[in-house]
Amino acid sequence: MKKLHGYLWMDSDDSETGWAIVAHTCKEAKKIGWNYNASEVGNDGEWTEVSCRWIKDAKIEGLDVGVITDYKQGLKSGIYGYVEGEKCEVCGEEDILRLVNGKCVCSNCEDKGDEHD
Ligand SMILES: [Zn+2]
Repeated sequence: MKKLHGYLWMDSDDSETGWAIVAHTCKEAKKIGWNYNASEVGNDGEWTEVSCRWIKDAKIEGLDVGVITDYKQGLKSGIYGYVEGEKCEVCGEEDILRLVNGKCVCSNCEDKGDEHD
């Protein structure tokens, strides 16, 4: 059985958003992302401009081939750098979240986490 990898799919190199994808190969991830993007938001770009980055240390144990549709899961896997429109796991506010010590937190809570006493 071939090993699964985590990929960040983007419709172009300078795109700011993308999809976290679990696949065996970059080629497979490209195809999955293309089809998913088409059904979610519609493909504006060209197939040739699609970029697919292999996230070498992605944590994808237990995940199946396909798009990681749970954004927080995508963040925790290390494929997304941040997610938008999800609730902070510390204060519950909806904000842009980043992964800090294994938790998806907003910038306020991230700042608080830096304070040590
Ligand atoms: Zn928060």
